Order: sequence, then C-alpha cells, then structure tokens
Amino acid sequence: MKSIDKNQNNNHDDAKILREPVLIQQETEEDLVLNLSLRPVKFADFIGQDKLKENLLIGIQAAKARQEPLDHLICAGPPGLGKTTLAHIVAHEMGTKITTTSGPAIERAGDLIGILTNLEQGDILFIDEIHRLSKVVEEFLYPAMEDYKIDFVIDKGPYAKTIQFNLKPFTLIGATTRSGLLTAALRSRFGMSYHLDFYPWQELVNIVKKSAEKLSLTIDQESAILIAKRARGTPRVANRLLRRVRDYCQVKAQGKLTPELTDAALNLQGVDNLGLDDIDRRVLSVIIDTYDGGPVGIESLAATLNEENDTIVDVVEPYLLKMGLLKRSPRGRQATQLAYQHLGRKKDIISDEA
Ligand code: ADP
Repeated sequence: MKSIDKNQNNNHDDAKILREPVLIQQETEEDLVLNLSLRPVKFADFIGQDKLKENLLIGIQAAKARQEPLDHLICAGPPGLGKTTLAHIVAHEMGTKITTTSGPAIERAGDLIGILTNLEQGDILFIDEIHRLSKVVEEFLYPAMEDYKIDFVIDKGPYAKTIQFNLKPFTLIGATTRSGLLTAALRSRFGMSYHLDFYPWQELVNIVKKSAEKLSLTIDQESAILIAKRARGTPRVANRLLRRVRDYCQVKAQGKLTPELTDAALNLQGVDNLGLDDIDRRVLSVIIDTYDGGPVGIESLAATLNEENDTIVDVVEPYLLKMGLLKRSPRGRQATQLAYQHLGRKKDIISDEA
C-alpha cells in the first residue's frame, strides 16, 4: 500500500484518476461581465427578493470581515427566479471564483471529488438541481461540507484502501426547484436556506426596463407593464418575452416599440392576460375536459399530455397554484372555478356534487 501525504493529495497518482473532467463550467467575474447575457452581476442590479438580499449581504459582510468562506447556502424556488444569478452575485461580492455544475451531471463520487479538489480557498461551488444528486454522491458531500474532507475507498476486499482528501474551505450553493425532495441530512448541512417567490409585476417592470437598457432598446412604461403582467411572475420569462417583442417590432415597425405592437407580439407568443402559455392552458384543459375537473394523479395527467412529470410539477404547477387556477390534494390535481372561467368552460354542477 502506497503511503499518502494527506496534505499533498492533489499530486497523488490515485487522485489523478479520480479527477477526470466532468460537466462543469468555471467562470471568472471577467467572463461574466463580458458575457452579453442579461444576468445581473451585482446585488444592486438584482431586483426584488429584498429580505433574502438583506440576509445574504449581512452574511457576506460578516464572512469577509472574518476572512472566512460564506456559510453553505441553499436556494429553493421555481425555475427562472434568479437562483443561479444569486450564486454568481455571491461569488462577485465575495471576490471569489465560481464553479457550476448540476446534480444529474455528477454521476459518480469520483466526479464530485474531482470538482471539490480543484476548488481554491473560499471558492463557490454551485450545484443546480441539487435534489437530483445520487444518494452515493450526496453522502460524499456531508463530510466535505462539514469538515472540508472526503474519504474515498478504492479497490475492494483485501486491496481496499482509503484515501483522505483535505479540501480548501469552500462554500456550497445549492439550488433546487423541489425543496421537498431534499433529504433532511443534506438540508441540515446548509447554514442558510432561502426560498425565492414569484415576483410581483411591479418588480418585473423594473427588470424589463433594465434588460431593455442592456439591449439598447427604448421601451415605454405601458409596454413594460404589458410584458411584466404576462411574465408568470418570472424574470426569465419577462426577459424572453422582451426579446420576442423586440423581434416583432424590428420586423413590423423598424424597431419602434409601442404598446399596440407589444400586445400583438405577446398574443402571437400565445401568452394570455394571466400570463399563461400554451402548456399551462393544456394542463388545465386536460384536467377539465378529460378528467371532469379532477382530481387526477400526476402520472395520468403527464401521460395524457405526453409531457414529463417533472415539467408539470416544476415548471407548470407552481404558477397555476399561485394564481388559484389549480388545487393540489392527496387525491390529485383539480381545476378551480377560476380555471373554468378563464378557459371559458362551464362547470358541470352534477359532477361537482358527485
Ligand atoms: P434560476 O437559476 O432560478 O432558474 P436564473 O438565475 O437563471 O434563474 O435567472 C434567469 C434569468 O432571469 C437571468 O438570466 C437573469 O437575467 C434574470 N433574473 C433573475 N432574477 C432576477 C432579478 N432579481 N433581477 C434581475 N434579473 C433577474
């Protein structure tokens, strides 16, 4: 058995085998600034979620003053609300590098060890969809998060040997669309835990205006409101709609953006006045037309729609629930009176009483 210098483990032959490249991206702050995306880089540009921002800023200030890494942080909430953006902003504010990956991309413990051993002091490791980490990989994270150490056993039976990797203190930022699926063991290892909520349309107006500015687009207040109100409370959707409106106005009016054109562009996108798009309406229609308004189980619903369960649960449902168009009970999903009204369907009184 070879002797292992624990502090020099980054140079160890066995360790090299474990450090095969996996699906990760390393971004410096410069990359981010040069990146033409609409993603805010500083807290000052991150609109809304005030309580969360205040808490994070205090944590960051305190950690910086102590010259320690920030405590591990978990952000939960539907897609497109800013979890990834926040992780990058934290890296920017801490003045550290961020490595990003996702739960499904880390297939084996060796992948995780490769990522962890490459982290420098104070670096941020961002794991998106952290609830989708495999059990085996997750168990390697526990000692890494708590003691900045991992024990890795190689070979089997009499040849088995344990290599201990000492890691540099780092911060793990996890993002999840399903906090309910996180194990209690993992959840308890995060010092900070926040939930991101859908944004009120007034905040989305500000996001739309800021994004328009970055796209060198002149937008009037009324058009910004039209987009914001139809953006499902979600900044990513607001930015997407803004880009589609920009395309439309470019083609139809040489780039001049007006409320009339904005409205026409949004209608063409199939977004209605509650912000529902095609799949939202299909979900409600199937519940009403095929399952008499429900309750219907998620499996049957997904099968009828020919969609993934996860798409319905993660992407579609949260907004329908928030808007009061859908009810969820142990018996399944049910369309509300409001959903019937919105889709112009009549509720069958007899089936309601049954
Ligand atoms: P998530 O990781 O939650 O799916 P992202 O962080 O990728 O969401 O955000 C999606 C997009 O929405 C980003 O590119 C960013 O431009 C925009 N965005 C999200 N939150 C905000 C915010 N609070 N202020 C401004 N823009 C935002």
